Amino acid sequence: MMGGHHAATGAAAWVAVTASTPIAFGWYEGVTNTGVIAGALVCAGAALLPDADHHSGTIANSLSPVSDVVVKGIETVSGGHRKGTHSILGVAVFTAIAWGLSLLSIDTGNEEIGSILIGPGIMCVLLVAFALKALKITRDTKLLPWTTSITLAVLIAVFAPEEWFWMPFSVALGCVVHILGDLITTAGVPLLWPLKFRSPGWMRDGRGIELDMIWKYGGNLSLPILGDAGSVREWIVLIPVSLYAIVGVVWALLDEMGYDTMSVWNQIVAVFPG
Ligand SMILES: [Zn+2]
Repeated sequence: MMGGHHAATGAAAWVAVTASTPIAFGWYEGVTNTGVIAGALVCAGAALLPDADHHSGTIANSLSPVSDVVVKGIETVSGGHRKGTHSILGVAVFTAIAWGLSLLSIDTGNEEIGSILIGPGIMCVLLVAFALKALKITRDTKLLPWTTSITLAVLIAVFAPEEWFWMPFSVALGCVVHILGDLITTAGVPLLWPLKFRSPGWMRDGRGIELDMIWKYGGNLSLPILGDAGSVREWIVLIPVSLYAIVGVVWALLDEMGYDTMSVWNQIVAVFPG
């Protein structure tokens, strides 16, 4: 799946899981409108994390020079592209790091301000820069990703610091959504990495049932309903997914601004009988 599409699925998943509007499930409770809006961008960035495993990828220079160093490190540890970061173990490691960083805070010594959670702030800066790059909002500039992502992180830290509780969950959700996105393309993903189970020969020799599309010789698993990455099918599926994310974020924004979003929704629903 393409970078921008991963970002869109991350944002859509965040809206679906955290928003309490009738178009969402609201499974993960306690996220305010601010959290739905900011989290959509953070989760879009988290949904790009698994692809931080190769230095020539979209996000490698999204927040230079920091992102370049992070990507180089992840590439080395994970064994290269579509290896460790695209596995169950990869999700667990990313989530554990996010959880660890979420505890990182500095005490200001000021009673009113208390301590500032800098760990989630740092993650927010990096992940938002990933998302902005993949969504082509920041392209050939070096300064804009820094100013935009730092501004957002500071705004949350100052106005809604309680929001950070969802940071590890957002990272986990983004990574899972990314892996699912790649799972439904032909190349598939090595879910059980570093374990590698090659598919048995009879699946590939053309005599038995042709299952090698699903279980590859190299051990990758795939349910290739989208075909190759970047296929026309992928684009078609991503239009409603992106629209859903946009509607969810705009809804949270209007709600936060005091608009009576529910009565508008009820009017729209009333148009459709049944
Ligand atoms: Zn990937």
